[in-house]
Amino acid sequence: MHTSATDRVGRFLEGETIPLYIDGQWQPAADGQTIEVQDPSTGARIAEVAAAQAPDVDAAVQAATAAFGGWSELSASERAVILHRLADAIERNTEELARLESMDVGKPIGDARGFDVPFSAEAFRYYADLAVSTRYREPLALKEMAAHQLRVPYGVCACIVPWNFPFMLLAWGTAPALAAGNTVVIKPAELTPLSSLFLCELAAEAAVPAGVLNVVPGVGEQAGASLAAHPQIKRLAFTGSPEVGRMVAAAAAANLVPAKLELGGKGAAVVFEDVDVDSTAQALVDAITLNAGQVCCTATRWVVQEPIFDRFLDAVRSRLGAVRLGSGIEEATTMGPVVSEGQRQRILRYLRDGQEQGASVLAGGGEARAPGYDSGFFVNPTVLTGPAENVCVREEIFGPVAYMLPFKAEAGAIELVNSSQYGLANSVWSSDLQRAERVASSLVAGNSWINAHNVFAYGLPYGGVNLSGFGGGVNGVQTYFDYLRHQTIARPLA
Ligand code: NAD
Repeated sequence: MHTSATDRVGRFLEGETIPLYIDGQWQPAADGQTIEVQDPSTGARIAEVAAAQAPDVDAAVQAATAAFGGWSELSASERAVILHRLADAIERNTEELARLESMDVGKPIGDARGFDVPFSAEAFRYYADLAVSTRYREPLALKEMAAHQLRVPYGVCACIVPWNFPFMLLAWGTAPALAAGNTVVIKPAELTPLSSLFLCELAAEAAVPAGVLNVVPGVGEQAGASLAAHPQIKRLAFTGSPEVGRMVAAAAAANLVPAKLELGGKGAAVVFEDVDVDSTAQALVDAITLNAGQVCCTATRWVVQEPIFDRFLDAVRSRLGAVRLGSGIEEATTMGPVVSEGQRQRILRYLRDGQEQGASVLAGGGEARAPGYDSGFFVNPTVLTGPAENVCVREEIFGPVAYMLPFKAEAGAIELVNSSQYGLANSVWSSDLQRAERVASSLVAGNSWINAHNVFAYGLPYGGVNLSGFGGGVNGVQTYFDYLRHQTIARPLA
């Protein structure tokens, strides 16, 4: 099974250039531009993919526009059958997708196999089932009027995806849109386009009609910007940084198109003195090493009650010692490289700037070499402490870095957490569940978790406020309705 998966991945990558997927066809970019995809554990080239420009994006939008009529006219059940078939194909190719995701992003293959891929398949199943059980026509009880409200799909939706969870974020953006009867044009991140392109092979196998799902990798300022600004897009879902989010929101606003923005974060974990120190330390080390810390909602500020600060730090140090750096594709690796040399330099720069502003390194720190690798984009997981006013407390580093801050009493912890401009996700750790609930509800963010961090389920809405985004979030029932517009039909009876 694994051998055939390796073979299929090999065949997928072996061609000269992996083309764009437009209207059910593989097509080169109109001007022949390409992007090199690198293995983050060595920097070596894995593949070359076509880089879409404005004319390619336009061709994809035209294909999606042409496909909209047929796709939206299918019944919800007919679309659900196709989306379940796509989920079946994803599950059958779990190993292939996990390999591609691991090679491309650098993440441990076990994580991709156990989470990224199956959780993505589940997104298609969840929204397919929701589509079947939704009422698309609601009678309106009005005096002297026969009236009802319809829920109808918008048309072509754009989905712009970052590089940290390429496959899963694609699924979060496109599954509800497709289930609702919209067609999609997906722009994966230039660093990590492979699993999105492989999905196109699976879409063809699952007989997703041509033009319903189009994938146009390319550079953000070119492919991304022309997709966000395209006048035929009816809805937009963007996941990425606040800086680019602002540009995408401005492009959507110019066309008066509703946009979902899922942006960065600076998550905190509030650790009270009554926790089990060992298991909490393990959970937070797991949080900062997951995907080498490149997780929008992860726990980057550890706000720890004074009496256990030193004990907690000791427990963290011993667990960090067990982290095994290596290529994501090696089964024994527990933390892979970061995605690119640029990202590695960004993290190292933050560590330097943070220390210049008074932070000190409590554990780990800086450049790393994985055993057996003389290159690659590795960094050590790092725990800092220092003044609360520090660039590493304020800004999103997007690497395996946590900043420990002590607190005395509940109110002080809440104030520290809420001093952030971000508002994505935080966690509260305590054996006093009433206190945990009280603190969780005082934290200004889209998501508060209790005695766990990075908690996801379909049916559990996930989204951010302030710098972390707007537009309704993902993964909930409401997300499905966000992809359906309202239309009322009314007939006066008098
Ligand atoms: P990014 O904003 O640089 O890029 C995201 C996507 O936008 C990429 O596909 C990129 O090519 C494209 N893009 C770049 N410039 C563009 C432009 N001018 N117009 C249109 N598209 C453009 O983000 P990144 O570095 O890929 O990802 C990291 C960021 O994503 C972090 O801030 C992280 O917190 C955030 N993120 C948020 C969530 C969430 O659910 N809230 C999830 C994952 C990542």
